[in-house]
Amino acid sequence: DRASAASAPITPGALADGTPIPLLANLGNPAGAAEAVALGAEGVGLFRTEFLFLSSSSAPTIAQQRVSYEALLSAFPGKKVVVRVLDAGADKPLPFLNDAHEENPALGLRGLRALRASEDILREQLTALAEADAATRAAPGGGADLWVMAPMVATVEEARYFTAIARDYGIRTAGVMVEVPSSALLADRILIDADFASIGTNDLTQYTLAADRLLGSVAAFQDPWNPAVLRLIREVGDAGRLHGKPVGICGEAAADPLLAVVLVGLGATSLSMAPTAIADVRASLLEHSLDEAKAIAEAALAANDAATARAAAQEAAATPT
Ligand code: PEP
Ligand code: MG
Repeated sequence: DRASAASAPITPGALADGTPIPLLANLGNPAGAAEAVALGAEGVGLFRTEFLFLSSSSAPTIAQQRVSYEALLSAFPGKKVVVRVLDAGADKPLPFLNDAHEENPALGLRGLRALRASEDILREQLTALAEADAATRAAPGGGADLWVMAPMVATVEEARYFTAIARDYGIRTAGVMVEVPSSALLADRILIDADFASIGTNDLTQYTLAADRLLGSVAAFQDPWNPAVLRLIREVGDAGRLHGKPVGICGEAAADPLLAVVLVGLGATSLSMAPTAIADVRASLLEHSLDEAKAIAEAALAANDAATARAAAQEAAATPT
């Protein structure tokens, strides 16, 4: 039961039938690592590197970046750590990467598009990550299993570009975020090149419903339970199964205990969230088998809107199979 979830023993994330579903942390600073581990994080599913540099007026040096990445990687020895290259723009502008005069920054030169337009910055970040990876692996405590991904990938060509350049720097596992509907719809092609996909449900919802995630007047549209969003997630899940590649979720949706079950039913193989959400999500996953999760997801998919999807999932989750 949820009330006792916080005091339940910390076990790896899993469904009732034993299917492992690693529960990972979203972090914006290595200083959060110890708390994440204490709360049961099995690794990091999203390290938002842009948070380190929001107040910088110039691009960070390789040496500056290495300090942060080494602190992060050494905090998770042997564990998976997914680092996102700078996601600058819209809600997270970086003065050294973005043009402040775009009329529609959410639709502008942001994420991987901005990095590609300033490719030196991307190359320096990949250099810093590769160096931090090598240094921590050689250190006595050991390093992490570093995965690197690009934000705001919208085309197959962008996925190819990023995975190729990341591999040039010795990154062993290179993937993409799926947070634009185009990349969800083409996930079966994108996962030919990319080693993994991680779905950012915050932006995926914003772009699917065409509703600014920061604008209160359209906040009602920003609901990842919307069956249109769920269908897109299913596309990515199916593509992951087709290619035998991992599909994580790293948007806020993964922190909703019931939606977490739906996401797994749609094909998610790991969930990443604010560390404080891990205990409740762990307890919720343990209540259902993979077959039940699929049935709960089907019930939500059959709905016309977010509220009905949530209610249908609640009812399916309460019905013993
Ligand atoms: C997302 O869009 O869901 C995501 C995880 O990235 P961010 O919230 O940092 O844009
Ligand atoms: Mg995003």
